[in-house]
Amino acid sequence: MQNIRNFVITAHIDHGKSTLADRMLELTKTVEVRKMHAQYLDTMGLEQERGITIKMQPVTMMHQGYHLNLIDTPGHVDFGYEVSRALAAVEGAILLVDATKGVQAQTLANLEQAILQDLVIIPAINKIDLPQARPEEVKQEIAVVLGADPATVLEVSAKDGTGVAELLQAVIARVPSPSGKPEDTFSALIFDSHYDDFRGVIAHVRVINGSIGSRQRVQFLASGAKAELIEAGVFTPELKPTTLLAAGEIGYLATGLKDPHAVRIGDTVILQGKPAPALPGYGEPHPVVYAAMFPEDADDFDLLKDGLLKLQLNDAALTVTPEESHALGRGFRCGFLGTLHLEIVIERLRREAGLALVVTHPSVVLTATTPAGRTLAIKTPRDFPEEAATILEPWVRLDIIVPPEHLSAVIQVISETRGVIEETKTVTPTRLEIRGSAPLLDVVEEFADRLKSATSGYASFSFAPIEPRPGDLLRLRVLVAHEEVEALTKIVPKNRAEREARAIAGKLKDILPPQLFAIAIQVATGTRVIARETIPALRKNVTEKLYGGDFTRKKKLLVKQRKGKKRMEKSGRVEIPSEVYVRLLKK
Ligand code: GDP
Ligand code: MG
Repeated sequence: MQNIRNFVITAHIDHGKSTLADRMLELTKTVEVRKMHAQYLDTMGLEQERGITIKMQPVTMMHQGYHLNLIDTPGHVDFGYEVSRALAAVEGAILLVDATKGVQAQTLANLEQAILQDLVIIPAINKIDLPQARPEEVKQEIAVVLGADPATVLEVSAKDGTGVAELLQAVIARVPSPSGKPEDTFSALIFDSHYDDFRGVIAHVRVINGSIGSRQRVQFLASGAKAELIEAGVFTPELKPTTLLAAGEIGYLATGLKDPHAVRIGDTVILQGKPAPALPGYGEPHPVVYAAMFPEDADDFDLLKDGLLKLQLNDAALTVTPEESHALGRGFRCGFLGTLHLEIVIERLRREAGLALVVTHPSVVLTATTPAGRTLAIKTPRDFPEEAATILEPWVRLDIIVPPEHLSAVIQVISETRGVIEETKTVTPTRLEIRGSAPLLDVVEEFADRLKSATSGYASFSFAPIEPRPGDLLRLRVLVAHEEVEALTKIVPKNRAEREARAIAGKLKDILPPQLFAIAIQVATGTRVIARETIPALRKNVTEKLYGGDFTRKKKLLVKQRKGKKRMEKSGRVEIPSEVYVRLLKK
């Protein structure tokens, strides 16, 4: 056990965590040279395509006689629950900061969590190969936030490998070996899981005490499920069986269980007949936005249910409750940590379960007080009260970190929301912290994208819930060919209603496929239409086959076509393909 080191790499998005992990995999010869490719630990196709880490990924490396268990973590705030669980499974954290960008909001948010977990923090700056790197300045920034000497901040280039060996050396020297007793009764904490078609549920565990191997009989304390293990092993990052997984180690248990409910993230695994106390587990995730999902084809309901259950094994932040809609049929109302999380879930369901979905506009949970004094939670836009009522909407405290030269751009972005700035203070000479508050609705919808483009990515933010406040909100309804499309109903602040209505109508006009008849698109509040567009009819050239001069014949055909169009328009339901919902979500 003295030779085990468990650690994470944590950083703001794009500061180079996954690339640094690549160099470590090479240096420790964990991955064969011919198999190596960039961002190796981003094992999902979706992660590789988007260039972002969505899942934490553990890997065991052997180096100079040490077992180094690294967990690569996502940087985007929507995947913060992954980060928090990874932090709870290790003793140390490399805090990586891009030497061209400096300390950003997620750097601070992750650091705060790492400190709360009592982790040993090893600060390092990355991308020192770049000419625009500002190593001394950024080291100073880190030193200030850590309360440490700038000389203790290591210098790395994850691209060319400079400083990586020294960084691993620092991990070995500074991170303590895990506590726990190999000779005690076995217990392990489940920090993640996934579903394997052949081996059933695979639990990702940190062994706390004792040891375990294949064929042993285990029990899950919270769920009560029992299993005889198919195998125990480590991540290389592929699953590799080992004879024994012992106290302090990070690895997996292949349970053979087919029921996803049997294994819960945060649960404790023990040996049957060898009772051990339950481990602390994790706090519940707090969804930020909700959206309802329905299978495009109602016959796929069971496929969706199964797909969501399996996805939840691998995405502990996703919450799911059944939902039924008159127009959309049976589906699920799901909670997400942000709109990127939502987008990723839809994409994973499409890829992993082969599902086409109808997804409602994401919304936050509101509370309404009716004139009669009744309060009700508005969980979907459908529940929005028609009659006058006081609506309370969730607000958040905003914490923005920005270099001084981008301050005015940030103020501009906030002024476009309903948010307010409360305080601006200097963290270091090159970093300002802006504190304020804003409605959650405005933050989840477009704040992140606007802040990023207004400051070329130099400003970053984190947010936390505060007391809800009254909001002046309206419900927008969308009618396509005079029929309401329930999934597109959306709640918006009154002062943005017209702008949003026009944006929705315009976007639908661009993405809805044209039909043989003209399609009217209308966006209304109550009965008042506030934006409209028309998609012109797709004109099938019925006179194509006729050449020569028979003009009357031509005219007859055209008249007939026009009548046909009218008929279709009357009966005309417009089928809305499922990609439309996904494309509408994207800004
Ligand atoms: P992550 O989001 O923290 O995992 O960041 P990635 O490892 O995906 O890296 C983000 C981008 O920075 C990628 O385009 C990398 O190629 C690039 N990058 C990472 N480390 C370095 C470095 O040391 N030098 C340079 N020049 N680019 C780097
Ligand atoms: Mg990454």
